[in-house]
Amino acid sequence: MSIIMKGSEVAAIIQQELLKQIERLNQYGITPTLAIVRVGARPDDLVYELGVKKKMRTLGIKCPVFAFPETIDQADFEKNFSSLNLDSEIHGILLFRPLPKHLNEKTIIDTINPLKDIDCMSPVNIAKVFAGEETGFAPCTAEAVMKVLNHFGIGLEGKRVTVVGRSMVVGRPLSMLLLKKNATVTICHTKTKDIENTCRNAEILIAAVGKANMITDHFVAPDAVVIDVGINVDSNNKLCGDVDYDDVAPKAGFITPVPGGVGTVTSSVLAVHVVRAAKYLNKIEER
Ligand code: NAP
Repeated sequence: MSIIMKGSEVAAIIQQELLKQIERLNQYGITPTLAIVRVGARPDDLVYELGVKKKMRTLGIKCPVFAFPETIDQADFEKNFSSLNLDSEIHGILLFRPLPKHLNEKTIIDTINPLKDIDCMSPVNIAKVFAGEETGFAPCTAEAVMKVLNHFGIGLEGKRVTVVGRSMVVGRPLSMLLLKKNATVTICHTKTKDIENTCRNAEILIAAVGKANMITDHFVAPDAVVIDVGINVDSNNKLCGDVDYDDVAPKAGFITPVPGGVGTVTSSVLAVHVVRAAKYLNKIEER
């Protein structure tokens, strides 16, 4: 039976350290602040927003929401976005995407201050992740996976790691973070041939696909480490990952559950990024 990699264990340690850093910022008269920017009111966004607000508030991070009507035009939105960019009381900006089709998302993303870009939307931070530079912000989910692996003592150097999924929010940047740690990374996607064999060759298998229970035990080598990034709803309306947990857990060495795995760590990483942004912007040295 595998070891269950619970996200709550990782999040608790991150939060302990964060609280000390937030206290230090408070001593300088700074309250770290994350602005959520939402256009319209998609149900998924509202659920995510609630979760983020709750997490930030428990840590003492301010989290105002700037909600705009779905009909807002480009000029108006850019003006509002730019004022958040310039506001010295705001340290991080979390823009919910995709934006409505009539808005040019790229123009907005290109204008975000990279120092406030706590979820790696801007080309500057993306380039840093791909160049292996650690001075920017990686996407929170990708970094959350790295924190889980590190917490459970999973070494990466020289390991065969397969990532299923190549999106710009998870699969690709995560592959770069793994490469930076000297893993030998294989990336799978919809055009990958013989995906089962490719996955079965991995010592560490990471699923970031968005397909409920796609990864069954045929994809997994005995005792492999299996990380499930997926957040899906199954045919019974139950939250589940990309990994068929009941099928895979008896074969894997380590496995993350869904819910309670990577997702639990992601919001803590978001908080870490806001605090780091508050330090950068106020020129307070890391300790
Ligand atoms: P996405 O943008 O839809 O990308 C999915 C990727 O999976 C694509 O690269 C796609 O390949 C690949 N893929 C889809 N079906 C496949 C198949 N049958 N075989 C092989 N590859 C396949 O999704 P995402 O934004 O990366 O999110 C992935 C999952 O992670 C979702 O369930 C999402 O809800 C979850 N997520 C979780 C967190 C968290 O905090 N835990 C955060 C963000 C996302 P192509 O490129 O060829 O189309």
